[in-house]
Amino acid sequence: MKQKLLIVNRGEIAIRIIRSAHKLEMSALVFQSDKEPDALYLQYADEIIPAKDGGNDKSIFLDIPRIIQLALEHKVNLIHPGYGFLSENPEFAALCAENGINFIGPSAALIKEMGLKTVAKSMAVKAGLPLVPGSDGPVTNAKAAREFAEKIGFPIILKASAGGGGRGMRIVENPESIERNFKSASDEALAAFGNGDMFIEKYLQNPKHIEFQILGDKHGNVIHLGERECSLQRKHQKIIEEAPSASLTTEKRNEMGDMAIRFAKSIGYFSVGTIEFIMNEDGSYYFMEMNTRIQVEHPVTEMITGVDLIDWQIRVALDQHLTLRQDDIKINGWAIECRVNTEDPQNRFSPQTGFIDKIHFPQNSYTRIETGVVSGSVVTPYFDSMIAKIIVHGKDRGDAIEKTLAALYEFSLIGLKTTVPFCRIVLQHPEFVNAKYTTRWVDQVFTPEMLENEDDEMIGALAATIMYASEYLQLSSDLPTYKHDSLNVWVLNKRLNY
Ligand code: ADP
Ligand code: ADP
Ligand code: MG
Repeated sequence: MKQKLLIVNRGEIAIRIIRSAHKLEMSALVFQSDKEPDALYLQYADEIIPAKDGGNDKSIFLDIPRIIQLALEHKVNLIHPGYGFLSENPEFAALCAENGINFIGPSAALIKEMGLKTVAKSMAVKAGLPLVPGSDGPVTNAKAAREFAEKIGFPIILKASAGGGGRGMRIVENPESIERNFKSASDEALAAFGNGDMFIEKYLQNPKHIEFQILGDKHGNVIHLGERECSLQRKHQKIIEEAPSASLTTEKRNEMGDMAIRFAKSIGYFSVGTIEFIMNEDGSYYFMEMNTRIQVEHPVTEMITGVDLIDWQIRVALDQHLTLRQDDIKINGWAIECRVNTEDPQNRFSPQTGFIDKIHFPQNSYTRIETGVVSGSVVTPYFDSMIAKIIVHGKDRGDAIEKTLAALYEFSLIGLKTTVPFCRIVLQHPEFVNAKYTTRWVDQVFTPEMLENEDDEMIGALAATIMYASEYLQLSSDLPTYKHDSLNVWVLNKRLNY
């Protein structure tokens, strides 16, 4: 009998997990949410469990009692939570275990400890990791927050202990605005995470986000798979990620990697996990948090190491021994991931919903596409706006940037605005090209005007004009040469569509 693996997630990550399930000869089960009854991932599953959603804003992917009930009815052996949703919910992991279902991730106790950033930080400091100066634990109220902030000096960042996905965070520049920010962040955290506890950190002015990928088994073996740089963020959410990071020397990589392993071992960690650091311009770095799940940006690590992280995540959940040793991990070339979100970058990244009339992804030997949509798919307002990830491998950073840019020019989507034109701007900007960009790039450098010549509709109109002109003047396929060869490919693709 094949093992049954239920995926409590949707979109691209559901398809990614189905791929691993099949590779490991398991049956993949998914939920059909009535918020998204025709989603692409349903086509690849071996069994579809129809699941009426609980209420207006609660989807099946968050409905713990129903998930457990349906999993038991369908004789599920394993549950993969993906990212977001219940992936870092200790009660859910514990309930799976109590019902004899193998939760693919670390133990409920580890998820709980790392889920509270203040607890994680106190454990990290015990393992000798440097911390951003800040409060030792939660601060009880706005008054205490103000007193503490005045001691360490402004600006500070107020963070929700239980926060995630960039939510429950406020940068506070002066004592006057701390009260208001404390309340709004705490309320937001209470609503989103069921816990309004806040703590304080010194706000680093121009940092980089550097994270280490960890992989451990249940027998005490832990390795790291190098770092990813995820400094290109908007509202504390990642948009572009790369691996490795140009900001680390081999020496520093080894030092931070050893530290990540030491921390993971000190807490008895197993499964995949990510240890996030924040790094100053002078190279000093501090532990920020640990994510106890597969990360959105895991493909960049897979591309440069050749290690299949989700396969291993499942295998170690089945008690298998990690057969990879640290020395087996070799970094090959460079990889960049661009998140394709249906958001309008010219209009404060407002979410776009509706039909994807036509979508075309770049196709070549060095590009990996992870997506949950095809032409004709509907983007609903109920879920995250990320519809795809374009991941490109190059022999070095320069090569990777060039190839990613070409891939982004080959991408086309008719019907909705996306973050792709924005990513094209970033990849051509000197601060990105020189690897000097920080988490503040969007705030400090980006302006919507930068997109004027990158707008997909503009390029589409230009392409149509060229085609019309060339046909009218009988120039046949003598299309002009552009800055990027792939634009020609794109123009030709358009031509076929028109
Ligand atoms: P990563 O470091 O993997 O990018 P994020 O913090 O961006 O992690 O979160 C991963 C994804 O999960 C994002 O798309 C985010 O919007 C979503 N997410 C985070 N927390 C939640 C949550 N509590 N419920 C639903 N989705 C969430
Ligand atoms: P989340 O759980 O939402 O991912 P993190 O603690 O990982 O929260 O922080 C998310 C992002 O916020 C970081 O990647 C970084 O860009 C920014 N950030 C967090 N802490 C600080 C800090 N002390 N100073 C400056 N930026 C910070
Ligand atoms: Mg984080």
